[in-house]
Amino acid sequence: MTYLVTGTSSGIGRVSALRLAGHGHDVVAGMRRLQDAPTHARIRPLLLDVTDTDQLAAAAKEIGPLQGLVNNAGITYVGPMEHLPLERLRHQLDVNVVGLLATTQAFLPSIRAGKGRIVIMSSVAGRVTVPLHGAYSASKFAVEAIGDALRQELRPWGIPVVVIEPGTFRSHNRAGTEAAATADRTTADELAQQRYGAAMDALLQLNRTVETSAGDPERVAAVVERALTTARPR
Ligand code: NDP
Repeated sequence: MTYLVTGTSSGIGRVSALRLAGHGHDVVAGMRRLQDAPTHARIRPLLLDVTDTDQLAAAAKEIGPLQGLVNNAGITYVGPMEHLPLERLRHQLDVNVVGLLATTQAFLPSIRAGKGRIVIMSSVAGRVTVPLHGAYSASKFAVEAIGDALRQELRPWGIPVVVIEPGTFRSHNRAGTEAAATADRTTADELAQQRYGAAMDALLQLNRTVETSAGDPERVAAVVERALTTARPR
């Protein structure tokens, strides 16, 4: 089996690539920063920015048939909507929404050829939102819509589409750092920092009340593997 995972330089994508490879699958690990590639004999790192359509087209041609595409790449900018820089919001939509569509378009022929599946990384924030997460949630609400429509469009082709909605977790990864940095820049006072903390706590609380895979990269990676490898119903 050959699977392509996007956004594998850190976090869920990286852990998923390593888990799949560890269980004997071949993994093409798409990423922007090859110097941070996960190391494993079955992992083939590939330079892949999901917003770069030329790179996506070249990669699809080179890789050939795929048994699974994991659309994981994404970024998180949070902060009060009053202050969030618009260029960051555009970038977030470009990666999380347009990037997801561009990647899916580029690799659908490979998925058809490989009788594969599509996995989409949404979030609990794709179902509900809390203060300071409105813009991120907006991108993930769009991801949910794309996943639901795609599932229906591809049913006649026998291509399963699985949307995963992990709970929020505090991470030391890049997205977490970017989120914190954005909050620092846009809410440069203690009160706003407290609001950011409260919003995070509210999202963390949702881990216990909304049915999602738990907010932990290892457990999310297990869900990714299950989505790719569970036998299809006859
Ligand atoms: P990370 O920041 O650790 O991982 C995000 C990955 O996406 C990085 O490898 C990053 O690469 C990559 N990426 C960003 N922009 C692009 C791009 N244009 N092209 C290709 N790759 C890109 O965060 P997570 O592991 O937490 O996030 C992974 C996914 O899980 C995201 O879709 C996120 O929204 C979702 N998610 C995260 C949750 C959380 O609480 N952390 C909860 C629910 C969902 P680079 O290092 O180059 O920036």
